[in-house]
Amino acid sequence: MSTDTIANTSTVTRPTSGLSAPDAAVKALASGDATLDRIAEITLSSVVLPLKNPISDAKVLTGRQKPMTEVVFLFVELRTEQGHEGIGFSYSKRAGGPAQFAHAQEIAPVLIGEDPNDIGKIWTKLVWAGASVGRSGVATQAIAAIDIALWDLKAKRANLPLAKLIGASRDSVQTYNTSGGFLHTPIGEVIENAAASLANGIGGIKLKVGQPDWRKDIARVTAVREFLGDDVPLMVDANQQWDRPTAQRMGRIFEQFNLVWIEEPLDAYDAEGHAQLARSLDTSIATGEMLASVGEHLRLIEAGSVDILQPDAPRIGGITQFLKLAGLAEHHNLQLAPHFAMEIHLHLAAVYPLQTWVEHFDWLDPLFDEHLETRDGRMHLSGRPGLGFTLSDQARAWTVGTVTVTK
Ligand SMILES: [Mg+2]
Repeated sequence: MSTDTIANTSTVTRPTSGLSAPDAAVKALASGDATLDRIAEITLSSVVLPLKNPISDAKVLTGRQKPMTEVVFLFVELRTEQGHEGIGFSYSKRAGGPAQFAHAQEIAPVLIGEDPNDIGKIWTKLVWAGASVGRSGVATQAIAAIDIALWDLKAKRANLPLAKLIGASRDSVQTYNTSGGFLHTPIGEVIENAAASLANGIGGIKLKVGQPDWRKDIARVTAVREFLGDDVPLMVDANQQWDRPTAQRMGRIFEQFNLVWIEEPLDAYDAEGHAQLARSLDTSIATGEMLASVGEHLRLIEAGSVDILQPDAPRIGGITQFLKLAGLAEHHNLQLAPHFAMEIHLHLAAVYPLQTWVEHFDWLDPLFDEHLETRDGRMHLSGRPGLGFTLSDQARAWTVGTVTVTK
């Protein structure tokens, strides 16, 4: 897969232009430019994270997908002439990883020489570089990894956690665990996982449902609710596997469990079906993780499809696009529960002014040297600048392709 594997991707922190940041600021003013720093180098890496067990949600039990055995990441590491650095990532499940990596390689050269502070301008430039393959999906997800690295770089330059750079509403976000409640996991183990999550300071538990035999769903939700008691937040996620009548019927049955939300009851693009459910059920409706652009989310918002929006920054083009969508969601008084990638979404959930949740998955833990703190039902921002993560030796060992783009 790799066209240019480099032996050593260790980072450079020393300014390479010979200018300190204050010197550069003085020179920039003298030259008439606002800032002088420029993007000098981009390293793209494809990293395959193996999962401990094959993962099954309802899409597997209905025969639409095979159990998931790995997640493929596109990591982007940026370096500037002044020695500032940023790291970002996108990901794909089952298919699409090599396509994201390939698209990033094609568009990355347009970054060289750009001022890394000009994130909006760069996002547009990257979209135009690959305009014929569209403004959603794989192309946008390749851009997302670059965009996230630019935001990480900007926050590191300011020596601030990303949430603080953008403007935080809080320093911690209520969190719930997903990785313990998949459908391949026997119910006894699901309950053990839930107990472990609560003992680790995680506040809520999400359970996968949507099996062809709906009675099994009810039995599992009943068992977990009995174990948790009435006060622990509990959610269910059908991963798009119900049709409209089934979703309506299951939603009515599930009202008795006092769920925080029912997630993806219908096809991700069925805005009207979700709107009907949201109107008819007391339980909140949550969806949005599968959508691949702000425009696709806008359709859900305008149709009144959701109470809780679940965007995924790597899937919709990065932090720049996520912030635009968050503005729309706030304007419509929606709650926000970003999907997956808590390492990015903790910051974005901390910024969102209204009710918000962050999804706890332990899958990505081996990729990074740092780990997030959960306590009292909440996930806490660290004081580390940027996203607050560095790639682990294990992530380097799982790297299957690396390309570096320079001037
Ligand atoms: Mg989900």
